[in-house]
Parts: sequence; C-alpha cells; structure tokens
Amino acid sequence: MSVPATIGDYHVHTQLCGHAEGELAAYVERAIALGMTEMGIADHLPMFVHWEPSLTMAMEQLDGYVTAVRSLSARYPEIRILLGVEADYFAETEERVADLLGEHDFDYVIGSVHFLGDGFGFDQSRNKQEIEARGVDAIYRESYRLVARAVGTGLFDVVGHLDLPKKFGHRPTDAAAIDVCARDALAAIAAAGTAVEINTAGWRKPVGEAYPAAALLASAAALGIPLTFGSDAHTPGDVGADFERAVELARAAGYAATLRLSDRGSVALP
Ligand code: ZN
Ligand code: ZN
Ligand code: FE
Ligand code: FE
Repeated sequence: MSVPATIGDYHVHTQLCGHAEGELAAYVERAIALGMTEMGIADHLPMFVHWEPSLTMAMEQLDGYVTAVRSLSARYPEIRILLGVEADYFAETEERVADLLGEHDFDYVIGSVHFLGDGFGFDQSRNKQEIEARGVDAIYRESYRLVARAVGTGLFDVVGHLDLPKKFGHRPTDAAAIDVCARDALAAIAAAGTAVEINTAGWRKPVGEAYPAAALLASAAALGIPLTFGSDAHTPGDVGADFERAVELARAAGYAATLRLSDRGSVALP
C-alpha cells in the first residue's frame, strides 16, 4: 500500500487514551514507511466531565504526552511531527478546556463531539441500544447543534468525524430534516474558518463509509471549508489507512487542495 506523500495523517491516537495499542514510535514509523513527510499525533484530551479511564488520558498524563510527542522530532528528522490533540466539546467546560489548551503549545486541536450534552456517548458500542431508545434523529440533531456551538468557541482547528452518529449504521428517519441540521453545522464551520477532516475510520466501522458522507463533503467544498485527512488510528497499522480512497472522495466532492497544518498552507491534492 502507498499513500500520497503530500497528505499527512493528522488524527493518530496513542496508548495513553486507554483504548489504543502500540508504541508511539510505531505510529511514526508506519507514517515514515508510507512516505509521509508530515503527520500529527492527536490523542484524546482529558475531559472535565463524564470522564472514564478508557476514554481519554488522565489529566496527570497530559504533560507526559506533550513531552513524548515533542521528543519524537529529534528521533525522526525525516518527518515533521505535529503536536495535536482531539478535544471533546461540552458547553459547561468551554472555559476550562480553553485554559487547558492554553497551557500547552499544541500545533492544532481537533474538536470532536462524541457525547450529547448529558454525557451520553453515542459512539460507544455499549450504548447502541440506548441510541435506538433515544431516537436516531434526536442524536443526529443534537450532535450537529453541538458541532455548531463547538466551532463558535474558536478553540478548534479541525472538526473531527462530522457525521459520527452514523458509526453503527444508524440512518436518520427524517433525512431531509437532519440534512438541514448538518448544513447549519457546516455553515457554522465555514463562518468560524474551521477545517473538516475526512476521517477514514468510518470505513472500518459498521457504517462502512468515511466521515463525512460524500454529499456533506461536497457541501463543505462548496462552502470553501478547508480539508484535512485523518485515519483516527488506534493501532499503528491504521496510520494512513485508505488515504488513496480518501483523496478520490475529496476530489469527487470538489476539493482540489488540502490544508497542511504545519504552516496552514494549501497543498494541491495528488
Ligand atoms: Zn479514541
Ligand atoms: Zn473522534
Ligand atoms: Fe474520536
Ligand atoms: Fe480520534
């Protein structure tokens, strides 16, 4: 397998989050083996509410994470390694997250909605039954509303897996109404100047399609929303997974360029 060398994988996790495997160096070595010249580690930032050890690193591990990622650069001069993080959005912890992010010189922050306002984790397989009980449409609606709020804070550079509620294959009943919600979220993303990612993990989940869906991606392109690529790797072998296919998806959606996060430069898609 090869990946387009100009496409960096900016969504890579580490063991610290409690649900990923492999040494940090192995993720980097995989990216190098694929020919990448830039990548970013973006593990889950600790959460101030609804936290469990299997969800994100603990607060006391954050300094070590920053040091570990930064120290990779000296060891692997052949690739530029950015220090990123994937932060959850909760309205009630906006200020604490802002302060926490401000304590470290992160190169970028992926903002992700994995939880509804009451802390319900709709992407966790243990919650599949409750998704149906709560109503799939209600979950889509609230997740898009939270994405719109999240980007309004200005804390995030990239929106992670925009249409995550589809993970287990759940489709909206009222597709037209949910599409309106998605487009409202995209309008907020565009207004905030935030990027979206093509997250290839969706191809490895029951839904069997990347996030976001092709139609949403086309809307994002039409709005001029910058695009990054991420594997959401939780194991070293998934770094760069399906990036060739992701580039095809981006091109079909109308994208001609991708956002390089090291200098916020626009780079032509291969
Ligand atoms: Zn994760
Ligand atoms: Zn995520
Ligand atoms: Fe995630
Ligand atoms: Fe992730």
